[in-house]
Amino acid sequence: WAEEKSKRKPSAAFVVIGHVDHGKSTLMGRLLLDTGAVAQRDIDKYQKAATELGKSSFALAWVLDTDPQERERGVTVDIAQHHFSTDTADFTILDAPGHRDFVPNMIGGAAMADMAVLVVDANQLDSGMKGQTREHVLLAKAVGLKKVVVAVNKMDDTKPTAWREAAFEAVRDEVRSFLTTSGFGEEDVLVVPCSGLGGENVVKAPSSMGAAAWVAKCNPTLLQALERSIPSETESKTVTQPFRMQIADVFRGSIQNPLSVAGRIVAGHVQVGDSILVQPSGETAAIRALDVIDEPRDFAVAGQIVTLHLQDIEAQHLRSGDVVCDPKRPVHLRKSFEAVVEAVDPLLPQAVDIHIGRLHAPGRIERLVEVMGSETGRKKPRIVRQGQKAKVKLTFEDAASSGFPLVDGEKVVLRAAGATVGYGVVDAA
Ligand code: GDP
Repeated sequence: WAEEKSKRKPSAAFVVIGHVDHGKSTLMGRLLLDTGAVAQRDIDKYQKAATELGKSSFALAWVLDTDPQERERGVTVDIAQHHFSTDTADFTILDAPGHRDFVPNMIGGAAMADMAVLVVDANQLDSGMKGQTREHVLLAKAVGLKKVVVAVNKMDDTKPTAWREAAFEAVRDEVRSFLTTSGFGEEDVLVVPCSGLGGENVVKAPSSMGAAAWVAKCNPTLLQALERSIPSETESKTVTQPFRMQIADVFRGSIQNPLSVAGRIVAGHVQVGDSILVQPSGETAAIRALDVIDEPRDFAVAGQIVTLHLQDIEAQHLRSGDVVCDPKRPVHLRKSFEAVVEAVDPLLPQAVDIHIGRLHAPGRIERLVEVMGSETGRKKPRIVRQGQKAKVKLTFEDAASSGFPLVDGEKVVLRAAGATVGYGVVDAA
């Protein structure tokens, strides 16, 4: 794989987050169009259909929902993937916005991502830092994302004049300070002004497109910001560990490849012909073929986003959130585990939804084991206050099940009544 790595362009996967209507889908459609991943004639087709429905401004946004890849898959795709390339890098957009029940999807997508793209409407400073933006940023942090590219969108529509520099600066400063107080490093955040609808400063530098001169002078395009935010590769550390991948999607593909699973390899490597174990079903399967970013390959390594085409297994044994692993060195099933979590809301022993990537299952905080940093001698904590960290014992609710596949170090998010109450790391699986 070292040889193959040297041939590869750097690659990164990202999730798109931000408040509804701030232009996430449109901006992604624009990226795909202007990098050549989607043809103009396809946009024209959507444009015609959208205009007939009186929604002409949505043509670009429709790219994400209706591209051929998704149509061909033919089954519900929870985390749609879209790929585009530049001369220097390959990118994957995870979780097309618009596929709601957003939050569980977002946690699943973000767990596979290298970074987040946060889209903020330049004209909605007040609502922009509230609600969904706030929660998405928290979740991005919770699953361990470090890099954020902020697209200050709809710059063509700033009041009273388009591309008003002061409007950009106000939003930039607000978002920056929000992200740094949320725990993101100053140097890990890039903020760019752009217009997804018009395309200025997304892929094309704005000078040729009539946007104000200040944009070109001191701001990278969104694409340049993405290229600069690609984390340095980390495969070398994990590639020698046992193979492990959480299933993001299960789908029935073509006649040659009737049953496939997609995900990002967390550790190890696999090759065509390998046998794999699926947990929790405990069934095995053989890999008859595999794709890395939609291209057939003989093998794949940690960090890559892959589709494994399987044989010798039934669809009912495969679900998103399951783990595929090396049968000789399997990931074990756990009915309960300990985790070190930070409380977003006060944490009590209570019912929670336990999210680990694509896996989410009802459970409960069985016990508060220890509150970090509290005075020693306090043996039986009863509550973890907001902002405090604690070791907790978590138990999955479904007593009949044999448990779920977990390993130490995995990120865990706890939600209750539709809100995130805590997040942390599996500490003793
Ligand atoms: P999402 O909910 O965040 O995915 O937002 P959409 O992409 O669906 O966009 C919501 C609305 O904002 C649509 O009417 C878009 O045409 C419009 N919109 C998106 N980007 C821009 C932009 O850059 N400028 C302007 N003026 N409108 C935009």
